[in-house]
Amino acid sequence: MSNRKQSEPKTLQEAVIYFSDPDNCLNYLVARRWPKGVVCPTCGRTDVRFLAGQRKWQCKSVHHHRQFSVKVGTIFEDSPIGLDKWLMAMWMIANCKNGISSYEIARALGITQKSAWFVMHRIRLALQGESLGKLGGEVEADETYIGGLARNMHISKRKQKISGTGGMGKVAVMGLLARHGKVRTSVVPDVQRETLQAKVREHVEPGSQVFSDAWVAYKGLDSEYIHNVIDHAEAYVRGNVHTNGLENYWSLLKRGIRGTYVSVEPFHLFRYLDEQAFRFNSRSDLDDGGRFDLAVSEIVGKRLTYKQLTGKLQGIETCSN
Ligand SMILES: [Zn+2]
Repeated sequence: MSNRKQSEPKTLQEAVIYFSDPDNCLNYLVARRWPKGVVCPTCGRTDVRFLAGQRKWQCKSVHHHRQFSVKVGTIFEDSPIGLDKWLMAMWMIANCKNGISSYEIARALGITQKSAWFVMHRIRLALQGESLGKLGGEVEADETYIGGLARNMHISKRKQKISGTGGMGKVAVMGLLARHGKVRTSVVPDVQRETLQAKVREHVEPGSQVFSDAWVAYKGLDSEYIHNVIDHAEAYVRGNVHTNGLENYWSLLKRGIRGTYVSVEPFHLFRYLDEQAFRFNSRSDLDDGGRFDLAVSEIVGKRLTYKQLTGKLQGIETCSN
């Protein structure tokens, strides 16, 4: 590897050019995975030898997996797809505001839709880890339903159907949004008090201001939070008491899912939630290159093995979106 570092890409066009060079792909990943120098993933030795022709390293100790590539121990492990394609797929997922379908990725990279689908799910798994730390300040709480059946239904019928546990084909989603900050969303089994309040406690610092509508499940939060309630039967906004930030986020999320994905099965929904939250949470402080960099740091830090990944992906081999 050359020590001279070509300047890293900031735009899609620069990324296409930059990652078409295999040495650039390697340098980019090595700088993030092993910032203090390459380490043998098996024994931890640092005096490893670079085999330039194969773009691999060889450990000086004699053990299994003595030769290793940068893919070992990451979500790229055992994948026959080249780093150039992996990195471009990551660029697109990290930066396409409304999401991108596996069909688009397949066309753009010249791989099959099935491969693209698998690549995307592995990347989404890696992006899940982004939500560390609790939200504070002014935090909006709200829940919504996402599902194919609801949107083709008449509104009165829909209200009936989605009350309670949500009915068939629909998934309840709980959201928490720190104003001018980050969002956390998760699939929940129901919208009852124990479920929703557990999410608030999991993600919001005690003492923060929490804004919600008058849904009974939020009653009782005022023992730990400053709880502000807006009764939507009366008004949608009263001063700073509203949940408009989350309402807007739900629209963005649903627009992305409808516009981009052919269908999202309930079982997969959390991955799309995480993907959208990743983009939203890096919206203001990062440009495209920075968002991509953050995504890559998630992937190389994860050390997810192919086995763990395929274990997690079991049962979802059939792919539609
Ligand atoms: Zn070793």
